Formats: sequence, structure tokens, C-alpha cells
Amino acid sequence: MSAEGGDEVYKYAGVVVNNDSIMVDKVFTYEIPENMAENVQIGFRVKVPFGRGDKLLDGFIMNLSEEYSGDVNYIKPLRRLCDEFPLFTPRDLKLMDFMKRRYLCTYIDAIRLLIPTGITKGITSRVESVLYIKNPPGGRLEKSPYTEIYEKVKNENGVYNKTALSRKFNFSLSSINTLLKHENLTTEEVVVNRLDHREYEEYSPKILNPEQANALETILTGEDNKYLIHGVTGSGKTEVYLHLVENMLKSGKDSIMLVPEISLTPQMVERFKGRFGRDISVFHSKMSDGERFDEWMRIKKGKTKIAIGARSALFLPFKNPGIIIMDEEHESSYKSESNPKYDAREIAEYMSAINGCKLVFGTATPSMDTYFRSKNGDIKLIEIKNRADNAKLPDMELVDMREELANNNRSIFSSRLFKVMDQSIKKGEQVILFLNRRGFSTFVSCRKCGFVYKCRQCDITLTYHKEDNLMHCHYCGYRQPVHQKCPQCGSSYLKYFGIGTERVEEEVKKYFPSVKTLRMDMDTTRKKNSYINIYESFKAGEAQVLIGTQMIAKGLDFPNVTLVGVLAADLTLNLPDYKSSERTFQLLTQVAGRAGRSNKGGRVIIQTYTPDHYSIQCSMANDYDGFYNKEITVRDNMNYPPFSEIININLNCAKEDLLIKTIKELGEKVKFFLKDRKEIDVLGPCPCAISKIKEMYRWQIILKGAFDYGLAEDIKDVVYDSLKNVYTEVKLNLDVNPNNLI
Ligand code: ADP
Ligand code: ZN
Ligand code: ZN
Repeated sequence: MSAEGGDEVYKYAGVVVNNDSIMVDKVFTYEIPENMAENVQIGFRVKVPFGRGDKLLDGFIMNLSEEYSGDVNYIKPLRRLCDEFPLFTPRDLKLMDFMKRRYLCTYIDAIRLLIPTGITKGITSRVESVLYIKNPPGGRLEKSPYTEIYEKVKNENGVYNKTALSRKFNFSLSSINTLLKHENLTTEEVVVNRLDHREYEEYSPKILNPEQANALETILTGEDNKYLIHGVTGSGKTEVYLHLVENMLKSGKDSIMLVPEISLTPQMVERFKGRFGRDISVFHSKMSDGERFDEWMRIKKGKTKIAIGARSALFLPFKNPGIIIMDEEHESSYKSESNPKYDAREIAEYMSAINGCKLVFGTATPSMDTYFRSKNGDIKLIEIKNRADNAKLPDMELVDMREELANNNRSIFSSRLFKVMDQSIKKGEQVILFLNRRGFSTFVSCRKCGFVYKCRQCDITLTYHKEDNLMHCHYCGYRQPVHQKCPQCGSSYLKYFGIGTERVEEEVKKYFPSVKTLRMDMDTTRKKNSYINIYESFKAGEAQVLIGTQMIAKGLDFPNVTLVGVLAADLTLNLPDYKSSERTFQLLTQVAGRAGRSNKGGRVIIQTYTPDHYSIQCSMANDYDGFYNKEITVRDNMNYPPFSEIININLNCAKEDLLIKTIKELGEKVKFFLKDRKEIDVLGPCPCAISKIKEMYRWQIILKGAFDYGLAEDIKDVVYDSLKNVYTEVKLNLDVNPNNLI
């Protein structure tokens, strides 16, 4: 960057400031002071004076130039460079640009994905003094505790600081100090990793069966860059992933292994660490900023070549990615719900294109979009039709709950489910019960006047939780006690309706008092290690019944589980969303896959009020293609994705009047802008299904159709322009192909 050898001397830097307002979503030009010219690079974090008061903000360098065409009198100088290295590369700029165009996000939203969280708040590496060997203790130390200390440090060089050494082996600090004094030991400042690395058992490679071997071969030698492994649950996809990663390691390339959120991580991490050792980076949402920073740095310095994590692991600073693998490709958690509302599948695809690396999707139940594309030849399809260890798929049974009611069974268990549960428990086998709703009762209502408890801040009914005897809002966390009498009419006919997992656990305990249960849902997994603790406890057989929400539906492998009970298959089916059939099919198939993972065989009992629905029927028959063919016709007829795209323009505001006025004006402008685009439907404006969350009213406009290149961005400009006088009060959320429309 210096003037040497005719290189350009950069005098100006384009900077994006670390601020959320859509009004500063621009690249601002700053002057580069001479003393920085030598070091400045794209991707550096800088301090810049900003606005009228010259407030010092963090900024990020997006471009460098020799000339500036505007009025230089208004140009302020960069104040200083932060960090010792740039946080992103020129190649990352392409990715940011893609995100801006595709998800209509701001620059800063895109930048934040690529840099370590917390770095702007001052998070840095943790440095500790660690003991090192210097001189071997001479004969004079023989048989003294010093020799022992020396040996420990020698064998585990660089691992211990003074307190850790003293605590773990019960050495006194004074004897350690003596060794230090005699310079047998020295201390050295080193960067330590905050992440606690558990020990993992070795997981030795398996000999691939022909279907697995074919998958591996196809991916490694194929011309294509994008693959979909459609393999039934238990078909040994993970073993294929492990072999793929091993191949990448051999050729010196990096691998990114994505799993849906935290829930799958323990098992996957267990297998990966068991195969490749500890030098794997793990990345998930429950890590602290410090831990994330450390993992980010390890990768930046090239110390690890494999990362396993949730969707954000895609953005880790690998230099030479050879493969990106996305397990459970259909999972909705691959779509971000916060800005930028990116779809990790698309980002992975874009990265694979710009880096020339392989992309592998794997799942038993491909999403409609991905399967559609694989049928069109856009993604290469690889099928694995049999379970890896030749275990049979479980026997599936359907119970029509309307008949149970007719037979006067009001319990949450059908007589059939109850009977099989009883048998399994008596045989000492394990049972999983699945219900996709947490809490005890889903709502509390007065039987006399119809009053229903709702959240004060949100337009949503409160869920009763027995744990703390309070009603909770699942959107904002608001809690309140239940009254003895109806707050509206004073009657004492308050009744609890609808069941959640807490209630299921209570019922199990009622009917099987001696049986130990575990529950896995958002309420029991808030703490950092609770998920892995429940998982390990159930795996170790410390409980016979595991009750859970969709958290347990995903890839968990428990050999002793012989029965899976689905208490209410209709829950997901009845959601007002075009994806509800797809979700139901996926969820039932995934949950069913938890049964019969050993030679004991397995049974799945599904309770439902709509036994004839095709998503239930097809999952019963393990018929993915049957489901796909039905569903794709529905999507086509309704012009839903993959035949169209959806853009949700959501506005929220504490003032309802202002919100309605603003969105109606915006609606007119958008309609005018799209008046010659008959292929795009403009739906709304109308209030969202949940019309208020946390005191903020919510309305939306939904656009549906085929958006050609640049059109979505032009619409965004219309939206920005329409909000320019109200942006401090009216908040905008743009979501391209949202997961749901509530
Ligand atoms: P999936 O991810 O496709 O649902 P898993 O990778 O969990 O399936 O594999 C299911 C089971 O089969 C696991 O217990 C795994 O250890 C076992 N398995 C996988 N591949 C083989 C193989 N080639 N030979 C024997 N067992 C295998
Ligand atoms: Zn009442
Ligand atoms: Zn609320």
C-alpha cells in the first residue's frame, strides 16, 4: 500500500459506520492520514468522527481510493486503526454485496455476520501466564514433590497456570514457586482458549456400505459443486460427512459442517472430535462472546481446519474452504430470523460458487425448494434408501383421536399408545413422547363469559406453566399469576385448556409413578449445558421416558428407544402458513426416525384428529416422493415458492395511528411502483396475525411473484424513501422468503 515501486497511495477510505439507522446505511468517505497509509487495508476496523458532534464511532473500511470527486473540505480524517489485522477480506465484500441485494439488509448488518461478535465492545484474546519447563531439576530434587510437578508440566506443556496446577494435583503454591525461583520452571504469556473442551471418546471410522461409498465417490470425483444426499433417517449420512471431511483434511482444505442450531451439536461434535481430535472449532448460540472470539481467532490464524456449528459458522474466516456440509437441510433454523434475514442454504451456495468449493446438503426430508431444484438438475441428487446397519424402519401406527373421544377416553394417551408404553417400560426399553408445544396449558379461559387471558404487551394468549405457577407470554416473556375468579365476570369457572410438554410429563408420572422422566424443551434447556446434560442422561439410561418438543425430533440417536409417541400430529398442520404441510411431514418423519435404531426394532404411534391428511399419510408410508408430488402441485396451483418468491414488508410502531397511516401510504407507493408488473401480487397492507408484540403494533405488506434482478432493491428504495420522515418511530423489517407470515 506504500508508494514504493509505483504502487498507488491510497488517500481516501470508504467507511461504513457501526450504527443501526437505515439513514446511515451508506459508505462514507474519510481521509487517510499519512501515518496510516502504510497499514490501511480493506476490512480494517477504524475509529471515525461522525455527525455534527464528531462523535467517535467504530467503522469498517469497504474501499480505498486515490481520488475523491466531491468537496474535500467536508472530508474528515480517520482517527485510528483498531486491531492488528483486517476483520474481513476483499472476497468477503462480494458476499456482503450479495446479502445486501438478496436480503435487502444494510451494510452494517452484513458486516456484523463476518466479524467476531463483541469486538466492537472491546472483547480481545485472554492472556494468561502459563508454566513452561526450563531446566530439569538436578539430582538434589530427586524424590521430592518437585520432580513430580516438573514431570506433570513437562508432559502437558503449556497447559497449566499456577493455580490450575496446584488445584488439579494438589501441589502447594509454595513448591511451585520454589521451582520458579530456581528457574526449573518459567512462565510465559500465552493466549488461552476460553471454551472448555470436554473429553471425547474415540469414534473410529466405519467401512462404508455400497450406498454410502457411492455417495462419497460421487461427491469427491463429481464435476458438480452442489449435491443433495437424500437418505432415510439412520442411513449413515454422518459417516459420509466424516469421510468427506477426512478427504478435505488430506488435501489441506477446510471444512464447514453446519447443523441446525444447538440441538444437534453434542452428538455431531462427539462424533467429529471422536474422529479428528480436539482441533475442531465449535460454534453455537450459547457460547459467550469471549468463546466465540477465541474460536474465530483460532480459525483466522489457521489453527483449525474444521468447524462445526449452527448457521453462523458459515461466516468463520477460513482461508481455503473445500467443503460446506449442511445436515438436516430442510430445517427452518437455517433461515435467520434477525437481520440480515439470510438463508444459510443460499449463502452456502454463493460461497461455494465464489470459492469453488463443494456444497453438500443432507436430509431424510428435503425441503420443497431443494428437492425441486435437484429434480431440475440444478443440484445433483444422491439417494440412500437403506438404513446403514440394516436396521428396519419402525412400524408406524395411526390413532384417530376422534374415536378415542367417542369411546370416552379423555386422557392425552390413546388406549393403544398407553398399552404399548406400558409394555416398553416393563421391558426396560426407552420411550420418546413428542408434543410440539411447551408449558402446561396453552390458555386459560372463563367458561361462563369466554374471557381469555392475553398478554398485556402482545396480541397473544398466555400459556400456563406449572413450574412457577404463572402464565407466560411466549413472545415477550411477560408473566402473571392466575386469579381465583374471572377478572371479567367474577365467576369461579376459570379453566385450563390445551396441553403442553409440562402437562405430558405430569401425566406420565401419574400413570407410571416409578418411571423416571426427562423433559427437553425451551424451558428446560435455557442454561448453557442443560441440553447436553439431558441428552447424556437419557443416553445413559437414567430416565426411561423423554418428553420433548421439536428439539428431540432432530438427528438424535438413542439405540434403546423402541417407541415414539406423537401426541398431537395436527399441531403444526393447523398453522396458518403455506409451509404447514411440509413442516408436518418433516417433523413426523424425523420424529419417527428416533425409533428402532437398534436390532430391538421400533414402533411409532401417531395420534391425530386428521388421519387422512396427505402429510400424515405419506409419512406413515415413509413415502417422500408421494408427499412431494402432492405438495408441489398445491404450491404450483397457489403460486407459492418454489414457483414464486415472497417479500414481507413488516412495519411496527408503538403508535397505532401513525403505523396505519404510514403503511397505507407505503402500500399506495408500492402498488404504483409495481403497476406494470402484473406478475407480482401485492397483498395488504393488513395487520399481522399477531398484531402486537412487546407494545409494538404490527402491520405488513406481502409481495409475491417472480422478482427479476434488481427489482427487489428498487422496491427497498421505495420503502426507505417512504419512511424517511418517520424512521425513528416506525421500525422496518424486510424478509425475503420468510419462514412464516405471522
Ligand atoms: P443419519 O445421519 O443418516 O440419520 P447416522 O449417521 O446417525 O444416520 O447413522 C445411523 C447409525 O448407523 C449410527 O449408529 C451409525 O453409527 C451407524 N452406521 C453408519 N454407517 C455405518 C456403516 N457403514 N456400518 C455400520 N454402521 C454404520
Ligand atoms: Zn368470566
Ligand atoms: Zn407478550
